[in-house]
Amino acid sequence: MTTAASNPEGATAAGSTGRCLCGAVTFRGVGSPKGVHCCHCRDCARWNGGPLMAVEFTGVLEIAGPVRWYESSDWAERGSCDRCGSAMFWRMRDGSTSSAAVGAFDDQTQFAGIESHIFVDSKPAYYEFADGAPRLTAAEVMALFASGDADPSKVTPPA
Ligand SMILES: [Zn+2]
Ligand SMILES: [Zn+2]
Repeated sequence: MTTAASNPEGATAAGSTGRCLCGAVTFRGVGSPKGVHCCHCRDCARWNGGPLMAVEFTGVLEIAGPVRWYESSDWAERGSCDRCGSAMFWRMRDGSTSSAAVGAFDDQTQFAGIESHIFVDSKPAYYEFADGAPRLTAAEVMALFASGDADPSKVTPPA
């Protein structure tokens, strides 16, 4: 995993910044990125047009600006810029997990690669990723989630 220390260009101890397309919404991930996780579920596809690649940090995710939150399920909500519509944030409604879309980060060099793919059984046939990261089906994701001790950044349920 890339750390702030190995990345003098962008992420620092102060955090890793990003913004929406129009710039009205800005954010900062505090701590270290837990890795890029790619979700292939139908909800993510409908929300942002394709697979959702998002990053959670070891610290908090600080958000500023006009974010419109949509409660997409009993447990999760998704945030987009109320001005330009950029799909940016996914978080648990209890506040336990927050992640930001990897493409919104200012420094794109800080992420070493994709950590995992989830809900691969929902992936359509018209695209394929070439990386060797683990592929988890919905059942595998839910089993990890139910076990209670899995890294939440790797077992985030959709919707
Ligand atoms: Zn915007
Ligand atoms: Zn998803």
